Amino acid sequence: MAQAPAWSGARLLLRRLRDVMAGQGSAEERLAQTVRVIAGEMVAEVCSAYIMRAGELLELFATEGLNPEAIHNTRMRVGEGLIGDIAAHARPLAVSDAWSHPNFSYKPETGEDIYRSLLGVPILKGGRVIGVLAVQNKAERAYAEEEVETLETVAMVLAELVTSGDLVDPGESIAGDTNAIVPRRMEGVRLNPGLAIGKVHLHQQRIVITRMVAENPAEEEERLREAIAAMHAQLDDLIAAHDLGAGGGELADVMETYRLFAQDRGWIGRIREAINSGLTAEAAVQRVQNDMRARMREVTDPYLKERLLDLEDLTARLLMHLQGGFGQQMEMPEEAILVARAMGPAELLDYDRRKLKALVMEEGSATSHVAIVARALDIPVLGRIPGVLDRVDNGDTVVVDGDNGQLFLRPGADVLDGARASIEARALLRAQYAALRHLPAQTLDGQSVKLQLNAGLLIDLGNMAETGADGIGLYRTEIPFMVRSAYPDVPTQAEIYRRVLEIADDKPVTFRTLDIGGDKTLPYFDGGVDENPAMGWRAIRIGLDRPAMLRQQLRAMILAAGDRHLRIMFPMIAEVAELVDARRILDDEMQLAQDRGQTLPNRLDVGTMLEVPALMWQLPALISRIDFLSVGSNDLLQFLFACDRGSPRLSDRYDTLSPAVMNFFRDLSRSTAESGCTVTVCGEMAGRPLEAMALIGLGLRSLSMSAGSIGPVKAMARSLDAHRLTTFLDHHSQSPNRSLRTLLKGYARDHGVVI
Ligand code: PEP
Ligand code: MG
Repeated sequence: MAQAPAWSGARLLLRRLRDVMAGQGSAEERLAQTVRVIAGEMVAEVCSAYIMRAGELLELFATEGLNPEAIHNTRMRVGEGLIGDIAAHARPLAVSDAWSHPNFSYKPETGEDIYRSLLGVPILKGGRVIGVLAVQNKAERAYAEEEVETLETVAMVLAELVTSGDLVDPGESIAGDTNAIVPRRMEGVRLNPGLAIGKVHLHQQRIVITRMVAENPAEEEERLREAIAAMHAQLDDLIAAHDLGAGGGELADVMETYRLFAQDRGWIGRIREAINSGLTAEAAVQRVQNDMRARMREVTDPYLKERLLDLEDLTARLLMHLQGGFGQQMEMPEEAILVARAMGPAELLDYDRRKLKALVMEEGSATSHVAIVARALDIPVLGRIPGVLDRVDNGDTVVVDGDNGQLFLRPGADVLDGARASIEARALLRAQYAALRHLPAQTLDGQSVKLQLNAGLLIDLGNMAETGADGIGLYRTEIPFMVRSAYPDVPTQAEIYRRVLEIADDKPVTFRTLDIGGDKTLPYFDGGVDENPAMGWRAIRIGLDRPAMLRQQLRAMILAAGDRHLRIMFPMIAEVAELVDARRILDDEMQLAQDRGQTLPNRLDVGTMLEVPALMWQLPALISRIDFLSVGSNDLLQFLFACDRGSPRLSDRYDTLSPAVMNFFRDLSRSTAESGCTVTVCGEMAGRPLEAMALIGLGLRSLSMSAGSIGPVKAMARSLDAHRLTTFLDHHSQSPNRSLRTLLKGYARDHGVVI
């Protein structure tokens, strides 16, 4: 077998390629020149470039050595032949005797029968295969490791040319994704219903590298050194800022591992090698990332996978430092579909609401706060679509079907037409709901149900008139706090609350005091890090430990109310003593307002959330001290089932309509029936018609929900005989089934309840 012949090395090759790429001629001519240069430099008789076309077909676009007539005629499917095999596995393949390889597929039109050995590498962009670059030799020869690496580097530079849009129609080659060129349907979980058509806008923008080949490698080495130093410093600051030093728990361990990776000599060494081969520092980082992604495909061990993800994250950071900032900010399209791995509620609020049409996440659960905020914005939300980020790029057209948990990527005309028709039909349905606006939410057997809005943004309040809601059952005061960069002082807060009261006019507004902590963080408030934040230092726990914050908020509310009716609710109360303490602060503030000669509210109602199960066994003591109670089923259920409300892996595990939850509500409504204390349900379940139906059947008469739910829930209530359902539910209270959902759906169907 022949040995690898000497050749002139990667650096020279890259330089020559750079000149070709920057030169004159069409993209196709430059590609033809490129393969000629590669063949010459790598001492190969053949060099060919195959580009991915629609339908996952690899098409020969340029060749030096094969029959020129084969260009644009030779095509193979991903997985077919050696070229297809390289694309399918996204990894290089070197064979000294191609003919004896089990996957060899002979294409007579190429005239390749005289070539025995082959080295091919995938052309990758963003971890996706967009083509294959291959060299062939007549002799049976072993390709050296160095040659494989060089061809990979060259393929990376070529990726830029392939995705420039000049080679293939951009409609086909967007993002250079094998998947990007074909329409695709992906399944996810419905986090908020609705239908939207729009263009993808990535939450975390990919960094675009424009310069691949280095002018001066020594300079690139220096740039890398500086960027690494800046990254280390930033990571150290991050660790220090969160006080994650000794004894910082699991998070500290993770951060420490992260830092160790950042210092990983292997990783940094590989980047240096890539710079030495002639790449710019950015291109070198990307080159190493490409290898990593290829490895990731093979890894099944979850721990290793996590660590490789850490490295991905570090790569993004390092690129950011190399580019001296957060990269280019993409302009958001007019009809934007935001796609993210996961997101916090405040991050969502940073976007221009008028342009935001839907949210799609790889993770997420229905009761996560980002989903709640998205619901307030009335946009469809899909969650738990693993791998979606690998398959879309900015500007891709997508249809988000929040009702059926489906995402259509680059849909064909039929799907688009269908979606447009459905959007029109929905608008009609909305108009029908709007027509119910002035009708009472009264059941067939004459039971009145109060339907109120959950709000937190001023745009929510605009929905009051449109929906005919009876008031604001839950005003989440933390939301206006979350969208600010500094802590709002008393006059600022008072102004917010005053506007809310003004818009609500004579309808009641229930202000919930700050519920921060958990996944609701404020950029200007360091609440420390809890191992289990949902059960950690949050809501009233912070309010009582930092009474100045609570005091200021109550003062602002009293000020805003003037002589109007004021309703204040405390979140996450776990024991009556906490309510007593909070109430004392409120009484003090009322007294102070009176002493100052301020106008006092004409009526003050005080209530608590019921989110912590412990409160259920203190009801008599609690009820005698409050005017109303509001069940936060989102938190309540996570505590009842010991099941994190934000965990996508658990979100299907326990059902809201399980016998345990039903019995909880039955007991609650019976225990409070005679007390005069109103009980509202304001968690997400209250806004889903089937769940709302069950709650009415269990005796609840007050529900609070997002604006989009009022119409459907009212239509349901007006078609329901509440007492009949109560009897039915009583009958099934001891059901051994995990959920009564199917049973309740059947009930609705059989009794003509509009669900
Ligand atoms: C709840 O827990 O159900 C609730 C309404 O509060 P939040 O979702 O804001 O925690
Ligand atoms: Mg809650």
